[in-house]
Amino acid sequence: RAKDAGGGEHCRFEPMLHASAEERRKLEASLRKALGLDEFVLHYQPVVDSRTENVVSFEALVRWNSSDHGFVSPGKFIPLAEDTRLIVPIGKWVLREACMEARNWPENIKVNVNVSPEQLLEPDFHQDVVDCLAMSGLRPERLEIEVTESIFLRDASIARNALEQAMALGCSIALDDFGTGYSSLGYLRKLSFSTIKVDRTFVQGAAQGSNESLAIINAVVAMAKSMNMSTTAEGVEDSEEAEMVRDLGCDKIQGYYFGRPMSREDALDLFKNDPSLAHKRLRA
Ligand code: C2E
Ligand code: MG
Ligand code: MG
Ligand code: MG
Repeated sequence: RAKDAGGGEHCRFEPMLHASAEERRKLEASLRKALGLDEFVLHYQPVVDSRTENVVSFEALVRWNSSDHGFVSPGKFIPLAEDTRLIVPIGKWVLREACMEARNWPENIKVNVNVSPEQLLEPDFHQDVVDCLAMSGLRPERLEIEVTESIFLRDASIARNALEQAMALGCSIALDDFGTGYSSLGYLRKLSFSTIKVDRTFVQGAAQGSNESLAIINAVVAMAKSMNMSTTAEGVEDSEEAEMVRDLGCDKIQGYYFGRPMSREDALDLFKNDPSLAHKRLRA
């Protein structure tokens, strides 16, 4: 009987599995053409100093408006781009685009760029960074590269070398989504990260009263301080969460409360309205 039931399940689910493989194949075909069709744009989300609430940086976040599929979220296409290595040319485009845009901003504002492990493993990566900085004229100190703990999973020494080369240029490195991946505190010793980004799950958890989440944020902040790293709280959505993470000692805050990812035009407009970029204006 169990076998029969299993067989039945199998039959019922097969069309769905098929559909999702088919969907994936279609998405991949579209993704291959996307750069050539100019279907990507970058949006920019402000990161503020937790005390002054002034903008200190913008994180560049890629958006894909596919002529075949409409808007596809990065949560869906970035993993596919990583699997197919399409993230290498896409990431190259993102890096150049972000550096070129950041030169239009005030000198004290940084740009944060997400970089996938596959990009770091490319021998060209260092030259790409050098070229983007030269092309844009951006001071290297204004470029912060965001990586996740997944860079430590395979070929860790190659990835580490690539990041150390970027640091030698003057760029800084942020450890993104901290606590969600294959976290090992040992990783923190392997590279001098400038910033640890505390994942939104902990901010949300702590705001909802989870003592575990609260303890994790506290521990990360204490550890970061002792290692001379700063902390950014991710995904802060309201004033209570903002107050909480500031009280917990997070140095910087990013999230919908201070600003959603916005078009390059909207980001530029912020500087026009208020050169100090205080959050009150951001949310007005
Ligand atoms: P991430 O680097 O951790 O970026 C933060 C994500 O959280 C963004 O999602 C942002 O829109 C979202 N977010 C920011 N504030 C809030 C908030 O207050 N509440 C909530 N619920 N969400 C918030 P997005 O833009 O969908 O990007 C998802 C992920 O895709 C990024 O996570 C990053 O890992 C990846 N990604 C995006 N752009 C790039 C890129 O150019 N290259 C690479 N390699 N990965 C990218
Ligand atoms: Mg990021
Ligand atoms: Mg993140
Ligand atoms: Mg994330």
